[in-house]
Amino acid sequence: MSLNGTYDPDNIFAKILRGEIPSAAVYEDDHILSFMDAFPQSKGHTLVIPKVPSRNLLDTDPDILARVTAQTQIITRAVHEAFEPDGITITQFNGAPAGQTVFHLHFHIIPRYTDSALGAHAGGQMADFEELTAQAAKIRQKLPE
Ligand code: 5GP
Repeated sequence: MSLNGTYDPDNIFAKILRGEIPSAAVYEDDHILSFMDAFPQSKGHTLVIPKVPSRNLLDTDPDILARVTAQTQIITRAVHEAFEPDGITITQFNGAPAGQTVFHLHFHIIPRYTDSALGAHAGGQMADFEELTAQAAKIRQKLPE
């Protein structure tokens, strides 16, 4: 999949936005959705996406990008409070050669724990949905009113 391409309205995050497949939602407003990664690299791995379609950082409207990054900071703070990790990695991949597997812009919030190794990116086992829902609720409790 090339860096410059046409947005595929049937990508998995577009389906999540349309409610066609379930997600463990953390936060939603008119512009943004945040939900738990279904194949988490660590406990609390959370995704933040804009609702407006764009494939990656390059083709995203700057105002939307500003909203997404600002909200990513707010949710990262909540993830920090919820899980008290030792570190937090934020990632965002552009194009398949860079590691992108879902072609709708997203930021990863990946808590890091000194005593546990990081899982594989976009691989491994699908997490238990109830567990993800419980984690999402824990993060939500830490979000500002
Ligand atoms: P990318 O590789 O594009 O940076 O990240 C895509 C992310 O989406 C991966 O971390 C992968 O685990 C996650 N993912 C793939 N399919 C699903 C799904 O159906 N639901 C959720 N919540 N996450 C998914």
